[in-house]
Amino acid sequence: MKFELPALPYAKHALEPHMSRETVEYHYEKHHRGYLERLEKLIAGKPEAEKTIEDIIRTSDGKVFNMAAQVWNHSFFWNCMQPKGGGEPGGEIAKLIHDAYGSFSHFRETFVTTGKGRFGSGYVWLVFDGKRVWCTSTLNAENPLLNNETPLLTCDVWEHAYYLDHRNDRGKYLDMFLQHLVNWDFVAAQVKRARALRSDRLVA
Ligand code: FE
Repeated sequence: MKFELPALPYAKHALEPHMSRETVEYHYEKHHRGYLERLEKLIAGKPEAEKTIEDIIRTSDGKVFNMAAQVWNHSFFWNCMQPKGGGEPGGEIAKLIHDAYGSFSHFRETFVTTGKGRFGSGYVWLVFDGKRVWCTSTLNAENPLLNNETPLLTCDVWEHAYYLDHRNDRGKYLDMFLQHLVNWDFVAAQVKRARALRSDRLVA
């Protein structure tokens, strides 16, 4: 299987003024593409080359895991944003967040604190177990799929994600992400997808 770098769901300048074209350009073209190219080199001619990225994540470790998870995490991260996004969600996501955190502002505070509290590089996530949602963070390339948690939303908190625009202010970057960029329709679609997959498993 030849892996393709998924196209960005918007133009590289489309998240400005909140996330600069330069940040998106470097992050996508250098980091995301770099992980994919390193993965391809590592698995060339090996059984992993026939697997999907998700299968590689679930069945490998070391460098192969790191590169595959970084490919997946970045593809997911780009989809978590949209121009003129952010703010409070409606519908089912609003209800799930309210059930878990009592209010959107408490969720926002928890998401930002969880992302700021991730020591070193990693991701802050909103995850789902089929019934409830919660915020969590992972180190380096790690992904909640490994804990059987369904990722709904992520923000990349590696320095390469925010240093050009926000220097060392990770908290400001996370506030901006929630206020201006989150694609809540994508988050809602992940809930639907997770429910469909779980009901398939029950039927099987
Ligand atoms: Fe990144």
